[in-house]
Amino acid sequence: THFGYKTVAESQKAQKVAEVFHSVAQKYDVMNDLMSAGLHRLWKTFTIAQSGVREGHRVLDIAGGTGDLSLAFLKRVGKSGQVWLTDINSSMLTVGRDRLLDKGYLNPAVQCDGEKLPFPSNYFDCVTVAFGLRNMTHKDVALAEMQRVLKPGGRLLVLEFSKVAKPLAPLYDLYSFKLLPKMGELVAGDAASYQYLAESIRMHPGQEELAQLMRDVGFKVDYFNLTAGVVALHKGFKL
Ligand code: SAM
Repeated sequence: THFGYKTVAESQKAQKVAEVFHSVAQKYDVMNDLMSAGLHRLWKTFTIAQSGVREGHRVLDIAGGTGDLSLAFLKRVGKSGQVWLTDINSSMLTVGRDRLLDKGYLNPAVQCDGEKLPFPSNYFDCVTVAFGLRNMTHKDVALAEMQRVLKPGGRLLVLEFSKVAKPLAPLYDLYSFKLLPKMGELVAGDAASYQYLAESIRMHPGQEELAQLMRDVGFKVDYFNLTAGVVALHKGFKL
């Protein structure tokens, strides 16, 4: 049946995502710098600047992985604030938690699914998900969860690959479908995971489509294209 087919496809996606991130966890940070030529640092810096996070705030970093955003937020919220690093994948979360511990931060690290958050409603001032929403099977469910745990007036930041400006599309396809898996093979010994990355980017909703998904769960939305739309930052306000 159609229902049966969908269920199999969905569980396969979650399984595939788990395999990819167990496989790349140890090389994730090196590969990130290499593949984006360091640009991911600028995209994240822009995200932090748009967060409005300040001393005493409670921040939830979903699909936080190796903890880049959590680390930046920890510097902002001070002793009276909280930053929760979360991820569904134990390998990624372990790398992130150890990295934050090494920097002297004893913040909570929780293994959980972005589609089913183990947090009370109306709790966080800011929720972030960087390069994570793409991997979630039910984006509408995940976005509704993010909306639920935010305080009224709180902010959701979704940083994600998006639809690149038309004239650049052929070049970008060449890069992501040919060069990226090659680099994955050479540096991380893993072409398949980087092939998945390219495919998941192509499948992910574009700027307007994602904005609409966010509006559908009750956010007021603004978005910014970064690097000609290679990446977009969507900002959602919980009214
Ligand atoms: N946010 C980090 C960054 O920007 O460097 C890591 C991004 S990494 C590309 C994507 C992360 O999403 C992985 O760590 C993966 O385990 C996580 N992830 C995938 N599906 C998830 C889900 N359903 N719930 C929570 N995290 C998930």
